Amino acid sequence: MSYQIAIDGPAGAGKSTIAKKVAKIKQFIYVDTGAMYRAMAYYLLACDVDPEDIQAVERKCMEADITICYEQGEQAVFLNGKNVNAFIRTEEVGNMASATSKNPKVRERLTLLQKELAANNNVVMDGRDIGTCVLPEADVKVYLTAGTGVRAKRRYHELAARGEECSLQKIEEDIRERDAQDMNREIAPLRQAEDAVLIDSSDMAIDEVVQEILDLCR
Ligand code: C5P
Repeated sequence: MSYQIAIDGPAGAGKSTIAKKVAKIKQFIYVDTGAMYRAMAYYLLACDVDPEDIQAVERKCMEADITICYEQGEQAVFLNGKNVNAFIRTEEVGNMASATSKNPKVRERLTLLQKELAANNNVVMDGRDIGTCVLPEADVKVYLTAGTGVRAKRRYHELAARGEECSLQKIEEDIRERDAQDMNREIAPLRQAEDAVLIDSSDMAIDEVVQEILDLCR
């Protein structure tokens, strides 16, 4: 049986930073499920699909073949055979991912891929519905969150470090909108699984959060 660590939480809570570190220490693979939804959104944006047009999203999502592989320990997401890692980290793609991830067909396709990965490897998987839907039997479940202002600032610094122009106020608005959308959708909404441990990282250093998760694995 593979060992599964599920980390869920809202945008900008630090999930990927923490999950990557835990995966490295445990020598597990890190599965960033948000990147899969982003790759799908990137395809739908390129096809000029209206996210509110359910049938168009369903039709087009069937054309997107999303796979992941690992290059020097880093997850690379492939869309129809092309590595799209460099294109999916923008706010535009993130907002489209949030708008289209409520579609059942999109979720069905990506959830299947995620379950397969976790069945065959020890994983640290992060997302919105990992503890509740994708890996309900995970060995360790964490719901990682932080105050909205803190999360907006973190995302602002992340984008600024990459040279992307952004306003803190706009990022905070986007985060609020994305949280509301992710928490209130009908299928697999973002919520804390009953057996997940809540960690609020607002006033915690990265390594403290990592240590808390490692302690939960013991
Ligand atoms: O985590 P990240 O910001 O990359 O995720 C982008 C979007 O993908 C989220 O806002 C959410 O709508 C969607 N997502 C999801 N389920 C997951 C991971 C991400 O619905 N397991």
